[in-house]
Amino acid sequence: RAKSAGGNRFELADPEADARAITRHGLTTALPAALDRGEFFIEYQPLVHLGDGSVRGAEALVRWLHPQHGVLGPDRFIPLAEHTGLIVPLGRWVLEQSVRQAREWRARHADAERFRINVNLSPCQLTHPALVQDTVDILERAGVEPDALCLEVTESALIGADDDLLKPLRRLAEMGVDIALDDFGTGYSNLANLRRLPVSILKLDRSFTQSMQQFPADPVDLKIVEGIVSLAHSLDLAVTVEGVETGAQAEQLRILGCDTAQGWYYARPGPPERLHQLALADATG
Ligand code: C2E
Ligand code: MG
Ligand code: MG
Ligand code: MG
Repeated sequence: RAKSAGGNRFELADPEADARAITRHGLTTALPAALDRGEFFIEYQPLVHLGDGSVRGAEALVRWLHPQHGVLGPDRFIPLAEHTGLIVPLGRWVLEQSVRQAREWRARHADAERFRINVNLSPCQLTHPALVQDTVDILERAGVEPDALCLEVTESALIGADDDLLKPLRRLAEMGVDIALDDFGTGYSNLANLRRLPVSILKLDRSFTQSMQQFPADPVDLKIVEGIVSLAHSLDLAVTVEGVETGAQAEQLRILGCDTAQGWYYARPGPPERLHQLALADATG
């Protein structure tokens, strides 16, 4: 962009591209203070059992209430936080908040043992040496059992993962923390590789759910999902589906053998009270 001589006026060749660039830079520099100022908050989206419709947990999804730009979704700032390293303290904060929230839900619900909190882990957190200790500390401080927690790691973060990278995840899995493979099927899914990974849940990417939109669904898509589900089950992995927006999709995916679902059909991500209402409504019939 060309800055006009003197003053703060800009001549923009491509105003939109420029706005994006300014925002990106501005967002990056504003990130650390945003964490200190408490501008981040978490929304929770229920995870619903496809067999009986009960709420089995929730995924924590971070948002940034930016003083000028309003609420920003994670796709706007997580990549920047990864780039600058802020993701480590931010991720720890998300984990701490979410685990505390899970304790509250578990304390208030009859079938509390079934209630889990899912938290996303970025690749930088995976390679951070304090991951296991931080997680143990957070669980202990909150008085929450490890089996209340599920950490979501994307398939792409584990591509070509060697034993050093998998070791912390294995330790967490041995303690009882569930590890889910997020966005499964988007990358270079190496099905044989699944056996090596300490995961217990496959989260089938939204693109599969989208292909269940039409009725009847594309027979090839049906076969693919059917195949993934049966392979997952044969490896003792549970299957969660993302992005369920219609009852027809839910029904199709239930018939295909998926275990748990998440999506706007059930609820959009929302404040913790909203999830409490949903889970309570469900528990009381
Ligand atoms: P994800 O983990 O795959 O999360 C699911 C995304 O799908 C969320 O987007 C959610 O709001 C959206 N979603 C849920 N149901 C539906 C639906 O029915 N239809 C459609 N179209 N979308 C649906 P969101 O909240 O924008 O998060 C985007 C990504 O940002 C997440 O994808 C995750 O990878 C990342 N993310 C979110 N929170 C955190 C965090 O605390 N730490 C890290 N490292 N990453 C996070
Ligand atoms: Mg996720
Ligand atoms: Mg996902
Ligand atoms: Mg996804």
